[in-house]
Amino acid sequence: MSFSSKVKGELSLHFGNGRHCEIAEMAAFVNICGQVVDFGENFWLKIQTENFYVAKKCFTLLRNTFNMKAEISTRSGGKKHRGKSYTLVLRDPLQAETLLHATGLLFEEAGRREIVQRIYAPVVSSICCRRAYIRGAFIAAGSVNDPNKNYHLEFVLADMSTAQQLRDIINSFELDAKVVERKDHFIVYLKEGEQIVDILNIMEAPLALMDLENVRIVKEMRNDINRRVNCETANLNKVVGAAVKQLEDIAYIEETIGLARLPEQLEEVARLRMEYPDKSLKELGSFLMTPVGKSGVNHRLRKISTIAESLREGKGEPE
Ligand SMILES: [Zn+2]
Repeated sequence: MSFSSKVKGELSLHFGNGRHCEIAEMAAFVNICGQVVDFGENFWLKIQTENFYVAKKCFTLLRNTFNMKAEISTRSGGKKHRGKSYTLVLRDPLQAETLLHATGLLFEEAGRREIVQRIYAPVVSSICCRRAYIRGAFIAAGSVNDPNKNYHLEFVLADMSTAQQLRDIINSFELDAKVVERKDHFIVYLKEGEQIVDILNIMEAPLALMDLENVRIVKEMRNDINRRVNCETANLNKVVGAAVKQLEDIAYIEETIGLARLPEQLEEVARLRMEYPDKSLKELGSFLMTPVGKSGVNHRLRKISTIAESLREGKGEPE
């Protein structure tokens, strides 16, 4: 099962805080999947979907919240569509009208009725109802990528105004949803892992949220390890770089004035360095006739470096 289906399955079991939330969620389904079939005098309301969870939840909401019984029919998809499609119909014009009024979605003009493409503000005035609307919209039009791949959550909507309003509702929770046009559709999307965690929380999908957080922890640990490995490699390169520079300096002194001209303490370190190019300063220090610590060796190597520089610049040996 895809992560998307898992989220939808979980959301389909959640019904919000009460009737107000149920109306808000139903409004999302009508907004996104609803259609008025107008016969002049009479009309039906039809909700069509390829998603089982939409059909199931609409049916339940209609029954429990509105005391309406929708006729439901399924059609197995032809060759083109793999999945089934579900149609819920309210054939009673009075019921259809009641539902459309409750959700604020009935548009009437000259005896013609249709669903107005807007999110009716009073329906989503409370925070709990905004959460319910987003939840319904996600079940109806949303998808989320497997977090193991990348962080992306989107809603695919048929019209710009619903997309923009949904974006604004989502962003009222301090998220940063954006709208983009793709083919004939309008996509409301979120990108970052943190934002997807937030919206799962808003829609109230704690199980999916936990799954996502686990993936995030593993990903972060992996990044952290990579960062550390890179950092250690960088340090190693620095150590190797320093040793190479020391060897160059020593070789230059050997070629020009000879190591024997160096003060005894420096000559000893220089010869040890040539003999053990890959040893640490601490180890080199322990090889000396009179052992010294890391900083002592470092100090001597710096002096050697200064002498080499001076020779290169033609200044001769420093005092
Ligand atoms: Zn509510």
